[in-house]
Amino acid sequence: MTLQMIIQQQENMELCSCGSEEKVMFHCDYRACPFYQVQKLYCHECMVPEKHDHRPGLIAKKSKNMTDEWNKLRQDISKLRSSCTQWMQINEPLVKILDKHLPNPEKSMLFKFNQLEELNTHVEEYFQHNVAEISAKGEIIKLEQLNPSLNTFRERLQELEPLRFVGPSVLWEVYQEEFSKVRYQEVLEKLSQANIETFIKLKLRRVLVSLNEVLRKFQLVEYNQQEYLENPQLSIHEIVQKINQQVQNLANNIPQLDSEQIKVELIRSELDTIGVSLMLSELKSQVVNNLLS
Ligand SMILES: [Zn+2]
Ligand SMILES: [Zn+2]
Repeated sequence: MTLQMIIQQQENMELCSCGSEEKVMFHCDYRACPFYQVQKLYCHECMVPEKHDHRPGLIAKKSKNMTDEWNKLRQDISKLRSSCTQWMQINEPLVKILDKHLPNPEKSMLFKFNQLEELNTHVEEYFQHNVAEISAKGEIIKLEQLNPSLNTFRERLQELEPLRFVGPSVLWEVYQEEFSKVRYQEVLEKLSQANIETFIKLKLRRVLVSLNEVLRKFQLVEYNQQEYLENPQLSIHEIVQKINQQVQNLANNIPQLDSEQIKVELIRSELDTIGVSLMLSELKSQVVNNLLS
C-alpha cells in the first residue's frame, strides 16, 4: 500500500461522530475502552484521555492487514493450483485408470483437484464482488464482517491440504488399495513413460512394505519408503537395483525353510515383474521415438 493510496483513502473517510468536522482516521480495538461500543472509528480530536485513552490504531494499517489476509489466501490457492496443474498434466491418465477401481469417487485425486478449481473460482468471485471495493476504501467495519467467509474459505483450502505434496506418496495414500487391481498390461499399453514410472514407484512401495516386514523380523534397518521413492538423486533403475541387491543378500542368508523365505521369494518375483515392465516401457518409448524421428 503506497502513501498515495493511504492519503486517498483518508480523503474518502466519513466524518467523525464527535462533530469536529474531522474525518475518522483511527479505530478502537480495546474492549475495555468506554468508547469501544459507541465510537468504533474516530478522528484525532477524539484521541484524548477522557475518550480513547489508549494507543490509536490506524484505519489504513488495519485495512491493509485485513486485505493482506485475503490476498494471502488467494496466493496460497493459486500456488497450489499451479503445482497441481503441472502434476496433473503428466499424471492424469494414470489417475483415470486408478479411478476406475476406486469405490468412493469422492476420494479421487481428480475430485479433489476439481474442488480446488471450484474453490479458486468462488474466492476470486467473492473477492471481486465483496472485498476489492471496500478494501480500497478502507472500510474496516465491513471488512471485519467478511471474516467468517474468509475463515470458511480457509477451511475449504485446509481440507485440500494433501494436494500440497502431490506426488507418488499422495497417490499411495489415496490408491493403495486399488493399484494392485490395475494390470501392468493396461498401464504399459496406454500410458506415457513418466506415468509408467510413477505406477512402478507405487508397485515398489508395496515391495518395500513387504520387505520391511522381513527386515523387521531379522532386526535389520528398514527402508523409509517415502523418502526412498521420492529421492530425486535416485533413478528408478538405481532404486530397483538397490532393492534387488538387498533381497539377494537376504535370500542368501535366510536359513532354508524359514517362513520368511516364501515372502522373500514373492518379493523377488514382484521385482522381476517390475524389472521386465520397466524394460518393456523403455523399449516402447524407443520405438515410438524412432518412428517419430
Ligand atoms: Zn472525533
Ligand atoms: Zn477506544
